[in-house]
Amino acid sequence: QPVLGVLGGGQLARMLALAAAPLGVKTLVVDNVADACAGQVAPLVVADWADYDALEAFAAQVDVVTFDFENVPAETARWLAERVAVSPAPQALAVAQDRLAEKTLFRECGLHTPDFMTVDTREQLDQALAAIGVPAILKTRRLGYDGKGQFRLHVLADAEAAWAALGAQAAKHGLILEAFVPFERELSVIAVRGRDGDFRTWPLTRNWHVDGVLSMSLAPAPDIGQLQQRATALARTLAERLGYVGVFALELFVKNGDLLGNEMAPRVHNSGHWTIEGAYASQFENHVRAVLGLPLGDTGARSPSAMFNWIGELPDASALLRTVDAHWHDYGKQARPGRKVGHATVCAPDARQLATRLGAIAAALGREAQVAPVLSALG
Ligand code: ATP
Ligand code: MG
Ligand code: MG
Repeated sequence: QPVLGVLGGGQLARMLALAAAPLGVKTLVVDNVADACAGQVAPLVVADWADYDALEAFAAQVDVVTFDFENVPAETARWLAERVAVSPAPQALAVAQDRLAEKTLFRECGLHTPDFMTVDTREQLDQALAAIGVPAILKTRRLGYDGKGQFRLHVLADAEAAWAALGAQAAKHGLILEAFVPFERELSVIAVRGRDGDFRTWPLTRNWHVDGVLSMSLAPAPDIGQLQQRATALARTLAERLGYVGVFALELFVKNGDLLGNEMAPRVHNSGHWTIEGAYASQFENHVRAVLGLPLGDTGARSPSAMFNWIGELPDASALLRTVDAHWHDYGKQARPGRKVGHATVCAPDARQLATRLGAIAAALGREAQVAPVLSALG
């Protein structure tokens, strides 16, 4: 029986393990905390990323290693790759870990990006602000997620506060200053590439963030015209450049009909959770298939779907559990402000019925504000 090894034991590892089981694949997870939520559904090895004795034993038990957590040190990934198959490859992980390398690659692949400049010193921050202007966002090049490690500058005088917040990171990991893009829409393309080069994308997903954290997703994104083909072609170019194997997400802004690359995630992605119930093969199933060299499943959508992210704490499940084709996901994590503790996906035969279902759930949960942008996108 094949064994999938996963570095990181969060909800992504948990959903990978749940998708692996019906394929006859066992999962073994490594995390540095004993209460990692994937441990509720798969055996968990508790070890540090530099605990090479534990990693050696782990590598000996698995057929392939993959990631739930994109910030596993590239060094750890490279060390493992000398012992066991690692997908995606450590060099692809390394590019996605650094916003500078990532945006540079995007441009090389013909994907436009917001204007950006690297910032390593306080003086370079002033120079970058003079070139890029405000509004702008200062971001750590490495280790940021869910909008952490970012500072939004509205006026030039915000430079002091931005440096106070992130200056210490500049010396360690480097920063970049990005132009703030007044985008019309935010989209993501979830893509998968198999070992044999077979490449597929799911229909584009439209996303809404609140305070830098994903709040809602809607798929297939309505009214996208030619953007699907363009996003798919760009994702394919990226994947082939990186020799990528597995699922990844490409986060995009749409401005004046142009696609701008925000970042890529070298793993299954929150904006692809709708594929569990809304697509023929989910991102989790196809990731497992890809990294084990199995044929890929169909990435087509079964129906329009919307996903709610539950941040901080779970709402009452009952309204959702009573709704037709609505699906509850409790990650089994302790409630904590800002933490992703679960999600729900609602599917319906068409956009109108999806809007009706979402509206009813939102009213029952007091979540009208969270759902409002999705309802207006559904028309
Ligand atoms: P995650 O990895 O969880 O997606 P992150 O911490 O890497 O998040 P980003 O994706 O860079 O953060 O930013 C989070 C959100 O903030 C984006 O999805 C977008 O809504 C907004 N954002 C980021 N950069 C810009 C920008 N240059 N212009 C406008 N909005 C932006
Ligand atoms: Mg990110
Ligand atoms: Mg992001």
